[in-house]
Amino acid sequence: MNEKPKSHDDIFNQLDKFQAMDCKYSDGRILGSMCTEAHPIAKEAFFKFIDSNLGDPGLFKGTKLIENKALKMIGSFLSIENPVGHIVTGGTEANIMAIRSARNIARGSKGIKNGEIIVSKSAHFSFKKAADMLNLKLIHIALDENYSINTDLVKENINDNTVAIVGIAGTTELGMIDSIENLSKIATQNDIHLHVDAAFGGFSIPFLKEKDYDLPNFDFSIEGVKSITIDPHKMGLSPIPSGCILFRNQSFLDAMSVDSPYLTIKNQSTIVGTRLGASAAATYAVMSYLGREGYRKHAEIALEKTHFLAENIKKLGYDLIVEPKLNIIVFNHPNLETGELARLLEDRNWKISCSSYPKAIRIILMNHIKKEHLIEFINDLDEISRS
Ligand code: PLP
Repeated sequence: MNEKPKSHDDIFNQLDKFQAMDCKYSDGRILGSMCTEAHPIAKEAFFKFIDSNLGDPGLFKGTKLIENKALKMIGSFLSIENPVGHIVTGGTEANIMAIRSARNIARGSKGIKNGEIIVSKSAHFSFKKAADMLNLKLIHIALDENYSINTDLVKENINDNTVAIVGIAGTTELGMIDSIENLSKIATQNDIHLHVDAAFGGFSIPFLKEKDYDLPNFDFSIEGVKSITIDPHKMGLSPIPSGCILFRNQSFLDAMSVDSPYLTIKNQSTIVGTRLGASAAATYAVMSYLGREGYRKHAEIALEKTHFLAENIKKLGYDLIVEPKLNIIVFNHPNLETGELARLLEDRNWKISCSSYPKAIRIILMNHIKKEHLIEFINDLDEISRS
């Protein structure tokens, strides 16, 4: 560390140099990210609440009320009037909280010591972290022909140690939606916690359904669903870090609360202690600003861009792995290996990602990707296919 203080200008000149090395969403080259540039109103609210600590809500009573309002607003499009939960750092923390609650309840009510959780092969790796931290065995279920969880295999893999089943509404790699209705029947019959990971799809599926897109239901209107992860910092246009975990009622939070003696509240259920009030304020601000109408428009524009790109990719002779359900496209070149195609696209300065199962190029059509970027990308795919 420097001995003498540096000037503001020196510091910011240096920060500018580092920031210049970062990719910018506005360049339209980031095609493989589920995050995007936050809405301006969310950034403004975030900065206004930058010092507030929701880990000590007795000191930040106003911010706590904002968090409650944000949860209620999210609940309003997930079919629950009075959800309980928190605005957290992202999908990972939300998923860990859901599994921790399920494990503790199963431990208390069924005496399960060596718990297991059932997830699909396409579940996000946050469940590996959850299983490791919570000392649970992860049971991976194969996918069906539509790349969704095979519910017959879920049934077969349930045993006396199962503490939770996870369904996904918008898989990380392909954007597919599991049959939450079927999982709910299985979970209810066996008295097992059903958690839905809608980190990606949660801010688009309900709004696309309002626009009459034919997508399956995944929310609290389904009896067996006990908790839902939904990320404002993905399709919700809130800044990083903004995640959200909702539970059906208070008992799920109580099952994992610990005493917090030196704070203004008696107990705490979140993974992190000191935590941002800024995320809650930003999420509340952008949801209020856009309203349902704004999110319907946002989700539909993303899907229109997806269909535009998918059609062009097919026309050029590339193979789509699956018809997109949400704003994710996964494809391959008919003759090139995925790794080789990825390298050719990276050489042309496209920041794409690859899915692991099946191995393919993966593009997420987030808000920062505009039609002109897609036309440039399609031209590059055309050139690659001709060379
Ligand atoms: N769940 C799903 C379905 C995801 O796609 C992701 C991230 O891509 C996560 C959870 C983890 O979210 P985060 O990176 O915000 O922790």
